Amino acid sequence: MVVILLGPPGAGKGTQGRRIAALRGAPKISTGEIFRDLAAAGTPLGLEAKKYWSLGELVPDEMVVGLIAERLKDADCRNGFLLDGFPRTVAQADILSTLLGGLGCKLDGVLNFAVQDEALVSRLGGRQTCDNCGATYHVKAMPPRAEGVCDHCGHALVRRADDSPEAIRKRLREYEVKTAPLLTYYADRGVLHTVVSNGSPDEVYARVQDALGQMEAS
Ligand code: AMP
Repeated sequence: MVVILLGPPGAGKGTQGRRIAALRGAPKISTGEIFRDLAAAGTPLGLEAKKYWSLGELVPDEMVVGLIAERLKDADCRNGFLLDGFPRTVAQADILSTLLGGLGCKLDGVLNFAVQDEALVSRLGGRQTCDNCGATYHVKAMPPRAEGVCDHCGHALVRRADDSPEAIRKRLREYEVKTAPLLTYYADRGVLHTVVSNGSPDEVYARVQDALGQMEAS
């Protein structure tokens, strides 16, 4: 199963993607997580990318595509994968299509997480992330069992550098201008499945499962 998770920042791609990945036994590949890990490790690519993502700007296409091309060659991708945060531009989508062709894989579908802008700002503003296992929480809507500590791995939770009010506004603008055109791109190819992402994570997950069922039936 090859599925793209699409939607604005804060729409729930990461949270829902982790659940789908656990259910299907397929890796969830998040380019944002890869960049954060590379920056934390102090690699030149990670530090260069951080100049963009810490401001809420997209990292240039050429810095992303080599990274994803390498990741998709890994053995754990042989039976499918979920892409969280890639592609984010039409140019990246075209490159992905070539990469999938080269790997002999087909795109099964795109899950589009649709949510209102006001909800996004409050979701991102209260978000806490575990930079060890990638789990995300919300101070009000989805708090961890112990304050500031990840339920899954016990690491301290942090606030992402790009979850500041200024960076959030910039990320939402970047999404509208550069990523939202992918909705038409994939709708035209008949693979877009929209999931309304308002409500609790369990409510959204039930809709995700319906959409995956439709994807598999088509
Ligand atoms: P995310 O964790 O998906 O919210 O990504 C965090 C940040 O990483 C984004 O705001 C971008 O700056 C950068 N990023 C992640 N994936 C991509 C991509 N496919 N293209 C460009 N920039 C990306």
